[in-house]
Amino acid sequence: MVNIRRDFTAVHKRNGARQVVGIVLHDTAGAGTMNDVRFLASDNDRGVSVDFCVTRDGQIFQLSPDLGNTTMFHAGRSTRFRGLVNASVNRGTIGIEIVQRADLSLSPIYPAAQVRAVAELCAHLCNAFNLTRGDITTHARIITDGSRSDPRQFPFSKFDEIFIDAMNGEGSGPVTHTVVAGDTLFSLARRFETTIEEIKRLNGINEASNLITVGQGLIVKL
Ligand SMILES: [Zn+2]
Repeated sequence: MVNIRRDFTAVHKRNGARQVVGIVLHDTAGAGTMNDVRFLASDNDRGVSVDFCVTRDGQIFQLSPDLGNTTMFHAGRSTRFRGLVNASVNRGTIGIEIVQRADLSLSPIYPAAQVRAVAELCAHLCNAFNLTRGDITTHARIITDGSRSDPRQFPFSKFDEIFIDAMNGEGSGPVTHTVVAGDTLFSLARRFETTIEEIKRLNGINEASNLITVGQGLIVKL
């Protein structure tokens, strides 16, 4: 289950029941620190806010007091999504700001803990609001005047891996993987956050061997 913090509630918001039809991902292009979260929660003169912020250490902050009954201001200018335009995009979507420095100078650009938290939060929201992967979009994709490109360089392949696992309900059974070209025990251990020794043990692979073959089905985690 995702751990959602409620330390801050945004000032800029509009009350009223809403129907959530999607999720919009952003990056903050700010300091890349907790100050970005504080800014989005504050009475800032840009009038912006967001439903969630995910910090670089993987903490999730919900700035909306009530997701089903409050609209936050994250994508209301020059946007179009699912027949919604401008302000109504805000009403129909949950915004997630991924905390990021404006010049992308932090390394890695998106730490693993942050990508995981975004993916698990998205899975949690998809379950809660009956959405699917196709309902998750980005500010860059819904902007109509070309003025936004965020979330910049976000690793969507890694996001998808974690999102799919989370939607399938991790812990409900073993995690399996079919070996494709380029996979090694080392790369799989890293990707699934386990060890080479554990994968070998689960699959009865000889201690002295590191051989896996394309098409082979592996249990990578219990
Ligand atoms: Zn944005």
